[in-house]
Amino acid sequence: MFEKTIREICTMLDVKNDLSAFDSVIVKGVSIDTRKIESGNLFVPFKGENVDGHQFVRQAIENGASAALWDVNVPNPPEDIPVIVVEDPLLALQALANKYRHELDLKVIGITGSNGKTTTKDIVANLLSVKYRVHKTQGNYNNHIGLPLTILSLPQDSEVAVLEMGMSGFGEIELLSNISQPDAAIITNIGESHLQDLGSREGIAKAKLEIVKGLKPDGLFAYYGDEPLLQEGVKGIGIKNMETFGRSESNNIYPTKIEMNNQGSYFETSVAEGETFFLPVLGQHNIHNALAGILIARHFGLSVDEMKEGLRSLKLTQMRMEMVEGKKGESIINDAYNASPTSMKAAIGLVSELEGFRTKILVLGDMLELGDDEEEFHQEIGRLIDQEKVQQVFTFGRLGTFIAKGALENFPEERVHSFMDKESLAQELSSLIKGDELILFKASRGMKLEEIIEGLKG
Ligand code: ATP
Ligand code: MG
Repeated sequence: MFEKTIREICTMLDVKNDLSAFDSVIVKGVSIDTRKIESGNLFVPFKGENVDGHQFVRQAIENGASAALWDVNVPNPPEDIPVIVVEDPLLALQALANKYRHELDLKVIGITGSNGKTTTKDIVANLLSVKYRVHKTQGNYNNHIGLPLTILSLPQDSEVAVLEMGMSGFGEIELLSNISQPDAAIITNIGESHLQDLGSREGIAKAKLEIVKGLKPDGLFAYYGDEPLLQEGVKGIGIKNMETFGRSESNNIYPTKIEMNNQGSYFETSVAEGETFFLPVLGQHNIHNALAGILIARHFGLSVDEMKEGLRSLKLTQMRMEMVEGKKGESIINDAYNASPTSMKAAIGLVSELEGFRTKILVLGDMLELGDDEEEFHQEIGRLIDQEKVQQVFTFGRLGTFIAKGALENFPEERVHSFMDKESLAQELSSLIKGDELILFKASRGMKLEEIIEGLKG
């Protein structure tokens, strides 16, 4: 991880105070949380809405931090402990990450998109770790604070860093791309998340395309080629090395044969004819994420056998299309981690196609942050559910009732159930379960649908 003396940090940053008394103190790693300080850390205080991190600087040092940053606009920086006074601690954190990235001899892969960032990050990291020492963003540390922290935690001998880049407005991906200077970049797809802030899907595409701003001149840019807004958006962006993935045959890589079962997907691709890859996760959209991974793996010199191994051994972060078993043996797909219209449609489509289950049940909750048209988005999801392929629809939450409303256009009333509380939903659902069902749980993170799953697992 990042390791420097205070004197070195002073040279890296535009420091406002005299720290000569602490010149040789060594800082190792960075933390923004006094409860998670590790010995030697640099503590970075932020001014939150309710609390000001500067209050905890002394505590951080007592908990083992070697030094702390301090905002020049906050009065009375302590002089008896090593506080580094800077114009803005957030910018200083980002600057340190950028400088550290340049010191490391490693390849960076940046991943953005409306859906599938974390999944694709896990896939790319797993593929490349067959050949390289790889580090990746932990959990969802994908924003203007999380990404610099991820970079600063990279071991010195890392060969590859796979970084997730999230955003909610213009300029954010550009910032993350400039900090991390990727050698390869991926846009997984364009959906509807953050429509509220970006105005239109065109706006979302434009914001995601900012990922090429920091891309190295010879870097690879891989994007979802079935999305017209990306095809349009890449015109004139001046990137030499672009490749596309997706379902259609116009892409540089597309699946030529797909077979799915409840363990995952077997597929062949246009880039390695006759070779079958196995991906141990469900869903057509995950095949697209894997195709993006294969493009990156090819760019970094993996053989087809290494790619096969890198996909076969994949384990995803929890709650993304995770298959678990309920008390009576029923199959539960836990996709309660997040939801947007695109990912909701993808997941419902997957459940509709899976074979070998007597009854298929959807448990769908609110998709948050969709802006003014949120009710219509939910109703449309309901309308799309195929009543031949799905037997029961449960909804949870206020917006969920609009999914139910949409479903009722095709379904008889007794197959659609709307709930505002989890206990009643769980009771009604449990009374239906015999053991040979497939049940999908999906909603935005804030809805915490996994609480119902916990009850079913017993
Ligand atoms: P977040 O914005 O919360 O970080 P993310 O972009 O990291 O989300 P994932 O956590 O990988 O996305 O996946 C979220 C959900 O999106 C998955 O559960 C899945 O249903 C869906 N999904 C994954 N990949 C795709 C894709 N390529 N296209 C559409 N939907 C997808
Ligand atoms: Mg994510």
